[in-house]
Formats: sequence, C-alpha cells, structure tokens
Amino acid sequence: MKDAQLLILGGGASGLAAAIEAARQGADVTVLEKLDRVGKKILATGNGRCNLLNIHASPADYNDPPFVGRVFAQFGVQSDADFFRSLGLLTAADSEGRVYPRSNAASSVLDVLRLECARLGVRFICGEAATSIRRGNGAFVVNGSLRAHAVIVACGGKASPAHGTDGSGYRLMQAFGHACTDLRPALVQLRTDPDFVKGLKGLRAAVTLTLQTPQGDAFASQGEVLFADYGLSGIAAMELARYAADGGTLFIDFLPDMDDGQTHAFLQQARQRGGSGPLEQLLLGAVHSRIGQAVLRETLHRKLTAPCETLTDTELQTLAKALKAFPVPVRGTKGFADAQVTAGGLDVAEFTDALESKRVPGLFACGEILNIDGKCGGYNLTFAWSSGRLVGRSAAQFLKA
Ligand SMILES: Cc1cc2nc3c(=O)[nH]c(=O)nc-3n(C[C@H](O)[C@H](O)[C@H](O)COP(=O)(O)OP(=O)(O)OC[C@H]3O[C@@H](n4cnc5c(N)ncnc54)[C@H](O)[C@@H]3O)c2cc1C
Repeated sequence: MKDAQLLILGGGASGLAAAIEAARQGADVTVLEKLDRVGKKILATGNGRCNLLNIHASPADYNDPPFVGRVFAQFGVQSDADFFRSLGLLTAADSEGRVYPRSNAASSVLDVLRLECARLGVRFICGEAATSIRRGNGAFVVNGSLRAHAVIVACGGKASPAHGTDGSGYRLMQAFGHACTDLRPALVQLRTDPDFVKGLKGLRAAVTLTLQTPQGDAFASQGEVLFADYGLSGIAAMELARYAADGGTLFIDFLPDMDDGQTHAFLQQARQRGGSGPLEQLLLGAVHSRIGQAVLRETLHRKLTAPCETLTDTELQTLAKALKAFPVPVRGTKGFADAQVTAGGLDVAEFTDALESKRVPGLFACGEILNIDGKCGGYNLTFAWSSGRLVGRSAAQFLKA
C-alpha cells in the first residue's frame, strides 16, 4: 500500500492548480493521472495556443452564476492571473480579454505548472486510472493500493475523451451517493441541414446567430462561424450547442452591423448600381461571393444571370430579410468526441463553498466534473484554475485541522 497525505485524481488543468496550491500550503501531494503524462488537454487548448484566462470572466458567463460567484469571491480571475505571474508565465490579452501565453504556445502553460509541481515535490503517478475509491479507518483507499487522508477528484468531464476525459470521475463520486445531472456536449459544432452550408465549406463569416428551439425559446450569439459540410463551427455556433441538442432553426444575420432599414436601403442602391449587370453580382460588396450567391439562390429561386434591375420590390424585401435572418434547420450537435466542454456534471448543491463534499468529509471536487460550464474564450480554464486552487487550499486546511 502506497501512502499519500493528499491524492489528486486527474492531472489536468484544475488538478495541477490544486496540487500547487495545496503543496504551497505545506501538503504532501500525489497526482494520479490516467494518461502517460499530465496536462495533455492543456496542450490542445486554444488551437495549441491555450487561451488560459479571460480577464472579463464574471459569474454571469457561466451556467450557475451564484455558485461560480462564491468560487470567484475566493479565487477570481485576477488572482489566477497573479498565480500564473508567480509561476513566471508572461501573458498577453487580446481585445476580447482572452489571455494567451506570450510565447503563443500552450506548452509554456503546462511547463510552468509542471516545473512548480516539481519544485514543490508533488509526485506524479501517470498511466493509471482511478477506478475505485473506498473509505475506511479515517482514510481513503484508491484502486485498493493508494491510501490518502484527503482526495480531490479532478477527472474533468466527458468531452474530448481522446484527452483522457471519459466520464469515469462521475462514477467515482456517484459511488459516494453524489448526484450527477444529465450530461451534454457543449462548445461543439452544430449539425445542420446540409443543403445551404455544403457549398460554403471552408468559409468564415462574422455573424449574429439566433437559435429558435422546438420549445420556442430563442438564444443568440455573435462572432465568427466557419461553414463545414456537416454544419457550422466557430465560436458563435459552438456557444449555442448547449441549447441545440433537440434541433431547431438557426437564423443567420450576415449583416449584424446594419439594421433592417439600412439593409433595405443598401439593396435598393445595389439594384440601381447593378443595372443590367447579373444578379449574382448584387451582393459582392456586402458578403463573401459564395455566401451572396447561396443566399440569392435560396431566396429568389430564379436565374442569377438575370439583370439586377429586374429585382422586384417584393424580392428585394425578401432578400433583405434573408440577409438579416437566413433560416437553417438544425439537426443537433456533434458529440462528446468533438466537444470542448461538458454541460452538466456533479450537483454543486452537494458541495460546500470550500468545494468539499457535504456527504464525505475530506473528499473534494473541482473543474469540469462539477455542473459548471462557461462561454468560449478562456472561461472554462479560468474556472478550472479558480476551483482547483480553491480546492487545493481547502484540502490543505482539512489536513491541518
Ligand atoms: C480541444 C479543446 C480546446 C479547448 N480550448 C480551451 C481554451 O482555449 N480555453 C478554455 O478556457 N478552455 C478550453 N477548453 C476547455 C478546457 O480545456 C477544460 O474545461 C478544462 O481543461 C477542464 O479542466 P479539468 O481539470 O476539470 O479537466 P481536464 O483538464 O480535462 O483534466 C482531467 C484530467 O483527468 C484525467 N482523468 C480522467 N479520468 C481519470 C481517472 N479515472 N483517473 C485518473 N485520471 C483521470 C484526464 O486524463 C485528464 O488529464 C478546451 C477543451 C478542448 C477539448
């Protein structure tokens, strides 16, 4: 039997933050990681650049603002920024508040975390998954062979199983009676009717999207979309994924900076300017030529070689409406394999503000395994660092008590 004072299950973002915070407070820390090395997902984040924080992150950017507010009141985004500064990581923020390492390499983030763990004497056991936790005689026993006085479960969610997160952490906590909500892939691509999107494959556009669900709710997002043969990717599309499981209709506003009146006036001028030139040229100055032609084709149902001046007022109105709210039927989303984040998780009502289980003293959880998910843009890693550091401090205090 191997002994550890504090055992952290999962060496991802929140597990490593927890390890450092606990070790800085004097705890003896061991991290058990299923994959052959810690932090593999961190290397894949932000397209290999790791968008590690968002300086504007506030509780309202997450699914459960009151709970996240209680975490951020103890370890907020500014304290996370100070934490990374204390590790020697230089960072830069873009105009949206997204923070990246100055090196533009996610490996810098993992490297400073690993170096600090090594400096503090944190032990890593890699290549072994936690499959069972038992409690008896005032200690926890993991996999029948690792004994610890406190355990932090930082196994992440179900999104992106290629990075080690297969949902096994939920089962470990459920064995102690913890409730887990329904789980859905979030921040994932939308599947749509292929007819409109397939010809636009590879194109990017800055749009506003409004998803109308079959239940009649409407959700909007703004930003870039990327057209693919299966549907839509890009931040604006992925942010709606949590609401799109049952399908619905997506309305694409291709001219988000112009209101309906301005769009109509623009088209009137374009018709006049276009004169006897073909309709296919009408939208060339407004949107990408392939998007323009697709919208014209779907909206007007006639030859695009016809002269612009033949566009009737009714057609012009229909076209203006299509540019501001082009309807695309949604068929659901891609699955956990492609998702960046899990929506749903362990019921947070069963944890104290210190993120200790209300059911089992000495058992803690942090990061994505909790029923917390945030917007795209550094918000999910912000919560991972904040909750991880909070739980590291809490577990160290538990061990001292
Ligand atoms: C491709 C991709 C890009 C992303 N980009 C960003 C981004 O730029 N910015 C952002 O804010 N968020 C991003 N995210 C989301 C972010 O990475 C996660 O929300 C965050 O890593 C969650 O941290 P965590 O510690 O809870 O879990 P994870 O970082 O997922 O770590 C969990 C760890 O636990 C291990 N594990 C799982 N089960 C067991 C077990 N039974 N025993 C032992 N170990 C186990 C896993 O192998 C893993 O190492 C991205 C996600 C993906 C997939």
